[in-house]
Amino acid sequence: MSSTPEVVDVPGERTSLAPRILGRVRGERAGSTLICIGALHGNEPAGVEGLERVLPKLRERATHLRGEFVALIGNRTALAQGRRFVDRDLNRAWTQERLGRLRTEGRLNGFAEDREQVELLEAIEAVVADARGPVYVLDLHTTSGHGGPFSTFGDTLPNRDFAAHIPVPMILGLEELVDGTLLAFLGSHGMIAVVLECGQHQEPRAADRAEAGSWLAIASAGLLPEGRLPEAARGRKLLERESRRLPRVMEMRYRHDIGTLDGFRMDPGYENFQPVVAGQAVARDARGPVRVGMDARILMPLYQAQGEDGFFLIREFHPLWLRASTILRRLRVDRVAHWLPGVARDPSLPDEMVVDKRVARWGALQLFHLLGFRRLEDAGTRLVMRRRPYDEFRSVGRPPPPESLR
Ligand SMILES: [Zn+2]
Repeated sequence: MSSTPEVVDVPGERTSLAPRILGRVRGERAGSTLICIGALHGNEPAGVEGLERVLPKLRERATHLRGEFVALIGNRTALAQGRRFVDRDLNRAWTQERLGRLRTEGRLNGFAEDREQVELLEAIEAVVADARGPVYVLDLHTTSGHGGPFSTFGDTLPNRDFAAHIPVPMILGLEELVDGTLLAFLGSHGMIAVVLECGQHQEPRAADRAEAGSWLAIASAGLLPEGRLPEAARGRKLLERESRRLPRVMEMRYRHDIGTLDGFRMDPGYENFQPVVAGQAVARDARGPVRVGMDARILMPLYQAQGEDGFFLIREFHPLWLRASTILRRLRVDRVAHWLPGVARDPSLPDEMVVDKRVARWGALQLFHLLGFRRLEDAGTRLVMRRRPYDEFRSVGRPPPPESLR
């Protein structure tokens, strides 16, 4: 595929669209592929701007490059209109069943995001088909509220290892609360995939952080050594400086879900990582003040019309637990987890554990998180956890090539 930008005009569209493939730099030598995605949400242009800065500088160094760098635009239609989405959130509904249907009808049914999703999927498939090694993905986003950058990902050891090269707080457990994200879909096919949140949509710093994160990801994926990338060293300094006073790892504790009839309004002035105390009112809705239930830090307070989450609460996750969890996974303790009281396993589904919460009163959710499981279902007394695929210790640093997306 050519790396020359194409400009496509869609009849009826007021603005001309940016190209799906923003740029592609392929090294002669085989190695990892790194896909960076900007503007999966159309009102988040900072990722695209950061990638536009990276591409020409990377092209100058193409002869030394191992593997391939690809920069893609997520939601071109919404980007042209400066909106999060037109018909529906493009960072949802990345399930095999839905994609199967979209492949046959999505281009034709007239819904902007259905068409976007099929085209983006096909662009990623083409890149994966040409890959000469493992595939890494960095999905660049921004938030409506202000406050420092952070990364989030499905908590597998290879994802952690990739994210650890970008010195911003790592937020665990966010992907569990949102179904059908692009990140989870690519992760389930063996790609090492991390989201980098770069700050507020409009602040100039957001593009600087997106650029910094991309350079660090280039080094982390092994495309070029960090020693050859002064931009990566500068990016590291920038992100370290901004994240200096924050814990390195935090975990998701609460999501404030909102409906269209809630009349939810965040009180002004909240930022990412701002501490809050139990009982503090942080927003209002139709029922009155919205109070938080625990001492925590706030994440992604909603200050825009489109979106389903009012805010999240996170807490520090001690790095000691991170090390403990690496050891437990290396020892494959998950294989005997069904010996614990109140835990059962269906032999036909060896990666799933069903917990009876009446019996297992010992923090089953936390333990299964440490062991690399994701929450699948949590209703009444029943908790179902599934082991994340591709959570292999031997894949840290040298992951295998991904599966086909079909
Ligand atoms: Zn976003």
